[in-house]
Amino acid sequence: MPDTLKVPHTLKVIAIDGPAGSGKSTVARAVAARLGLAYLDTGAMYRAVAFEAMRRGIEPDDEQTVAELSRQLELEVGEKVMVNGTDATVEIRSPEVTRAVSSVAANPAVRKEMVLRQREWAARRGGGVVEGRDIGTVVFPQAPLKVYLTASEDERASRRTKEMLDRDYDRVAADMARRDQIDSTRAASPLTVAADAVELDTTGLDAEAVVDAVMALIAERVPQ
Ligand code: C5P
Repeated sequence: MPDTLKVPHTLKVIAIDGPAGSGKSTVARAVAARLGLAYLDTGAMYRAVAFEAMRRGIEPDDEQTVAELSRQLELEVGEKVMVNGTDATVEIRSPEVTRAVSSVAANPAVRKEMVLRQREWAARRGGGVVEGRDIGTVVFPQAPLKVYLTASEDERASRRTKEMLDRDYDRVAADMARRDQIDSTRAASPLTVAADAVELDTTGLDAEAVVDAVMALIAERVPQ
């Protein structure tokens, strides 16, 4: 059996990538709602693997054990995040999981399994709005629209502080900088801008302005 699902060119995938706090989740969710398309948060998938590893006392950087765990994982990512039958929607956002997730996501075997599941998810639906770090570069290189969101470090840390369970700005900013560093320098699918992505700097913009900009790009570039 082939270990990677071929990605049909006809999939209507809107790929939204960028670092933590760039506004991906808010924007991707709103764009999906406006288009009536499904939405997938791929960061939640890596967080779910990290969560389950920690729950079982497995070291996040124990590559083989975490890879096996990721292949066995029963995972549903939607309104709720269900991990092996447990509702982990809140726990996957904890500071502990946030600290462990980048090393789990740097594991090539974990990435291979998650990418496979992401492609299956989109193939089943004919497409969707998918957000992450490698969606336009690796998961859906044929996506008709790839958006790469950025924002200043300070604004990204402020946004994340409001979102996370951990409300301490300095700690959130330090964790975010560490995570950005690991995510952009890892060997397997590092965070980079796809050559054909549209870069949008969201510093100082509210979510609605960014959603409007993405909707304009969709109208211009995505075949209806
Ligand atoms: O998007 P979020 O901040 O929840 O992602 C958590 C972590 O999951 C990221 O820091 C990154 O290490 C990893 N990730 C990834 N590839 C994706 C999505 C997330 O490596 N497509």
